[in-house]
Amino acid sequence: MSDMKQYVNDVLELVKRRDPDQVEFQNTVKEVLTTIVPVLESNPKYKEVKLLERMVEPERVVTFRVPWQDDKGEIQINRGYRVQMNSAIGPYKGGLRFHPSVNLSILKFLAFEQVFKNSLTGLPIGGGKGGSDFDPKGKSDNEVMRFCQSFMTELYRHIGPHTDVPAGDIGVGGREIGFLYGQYKRIRDAYDDAVLTGKGLTYGGSLTRTEATGYGLLYFVKNMLADKGDSLQGKTVVVSGAGNVAIYAIQKAQEFGAKVVTCSDSNGYVYDPNGINLDVVKQIKEVERGRIKEYAARVPSAEYHEGCKGVWTVKCDIALPCATQSEIDLESAKILVNNGVKLIAEGANMPSTLEAIDHYQKSKIMFGPAKAANAGGVATSALEMSQNSMRLSWTFEEVDKKLEGIMTNIYKNAKACAEKYGDPDNLVMGANISAFIKVANAMMAQGLV
Ligand code: NDP
Repeated sequence: MSDMKQYVNDVLELVKRRDPDQVEFQNTVKEVLTTIVPVLESNPKYKEVKLLERMVEPERVVTFRVPWQDDKGEIQINRGYRVQMNSAIGPYKGGLRFHPSVNLSILKFLAFEQVFKNSLTGLPIGGGKGGSDFDPKGKSDNEVMRFCQSFMTELYRHIGPHTDVPAGDIGVGGREIGFLYGQYKRIRDAYDDAVLTGKGLTYGGSLTRTEATGYGLLYFVKNMLADKGDSLQGKTVVVSGAGNVAIYAIQKAQEFGAKVVTCSDSNGYVYDPNGINLDVVKQIKEVERGRIKEYAARVPSAEYHEGCKGVWTVKCDIALPCATQSEIDLESAKILVNNGVKLIAEGANMPSTLEAIDHYQKSKIMFGPAKAANAGGVATSALEMSQNSMRLSWTFEEVDKKLEGIMTNIYKNAKACAEKYGDPDNLVMGANISAFIKVANAMMAQGLV
């Protein structure tokens, strides 16, 4: 085994030994570090200064109690977190997730991914992630507001426009960001609008931010296909999820001439051979906050199936996982490949297991990994920060154009790195290397901090 492969193995062992129960974090560290060996080999200095050991240790982790009262007057206690992973190239930046599954392993995995994703955008943002095991499902607006206010009453000490700028993620959309920002402003007594992104348009939000991750994913896919002389026109697309990322991925895919035949939530999926009617999905999910099952009750051509995993059994040309982590395992990957899928691009964070990714690569499926393909959301968040700092608002078209330019650059840089390091179609390696070099060189320049 080469010296640098051994170095990577030693760091992976260290991560396992330190936090044996943090499986998601171990997996993402493995996914990144095993692909950057060629860069380590040409830069032995990284090992001398223990750069990888530093990268896998968050700069700071905060956990805190979040007490709040529900509508019945009962006291509830949740756990809040903020993982500040790496600030070498800018203030920590990354979403807040409210979901019962939230724990430190998941947040460290997301924060680690975020560091590299943010680097890929070419914008000056470091990486972080946070959230709570609070479940917004079934809660009233007042309960969500009380929870958000209590959460921010502690979080405000750790964030700021020049230190750490959270945004939304699963379970945190425009409503939650509004409540969080209101409480922050009240405590700080200052209009620091660049402290949170994903804000409403009347108080510092950016046009296109809502659409950005889904649109960005499709701009990335468009580049992948164009490189092979192909396009989205006439393709059958399977999408999972029915949240922010999924909805706007479906919208842009339809605009590009594709037929999207599925969407899902954590209970099940709908298959509509006529193509998903997005107005109905938006009404159910964005307005009524209902279950996707109701789609089939309203659209006669659609079928509803219990269980979200079944979505990967639907025959398609392109699969876009946009719900959550680990939704495609090896078994689902095999079904997708056997059914003739040609391209898989990730809207969600780490929706494919490592075994699934390995199977795509062995089967020569075109694969757009999350940290590159879904970077449009955070890139537009950084554009929101710029507009806040300049006290300007760009038009929808201006932001959308910048977003498309950023996604094209991410694709080109990942592709160029993949080619340079000898595996031209391996965008996992290309994206990881392209992202790593920028963060690593900034850390080297800043000394032992
Ligand atoms: P939302 O909360 O808006 O939507 C999440 C969707 O996924 C919902 O339909 C939800 O269904 C479904 N879902 C959640 N958990 C599961 C599960 N265990 N199994 C199946 N379906 C599930 O979140 P977003 O759309 O914002 O985020 C989706 C993914 O994209 C996440 O991985 C997130 O980290 C990632 N991402 C989001 C960005 C953004 O800008 N929003 C940016 C980059 C990445 P249900 O309603 O039943 O919970």
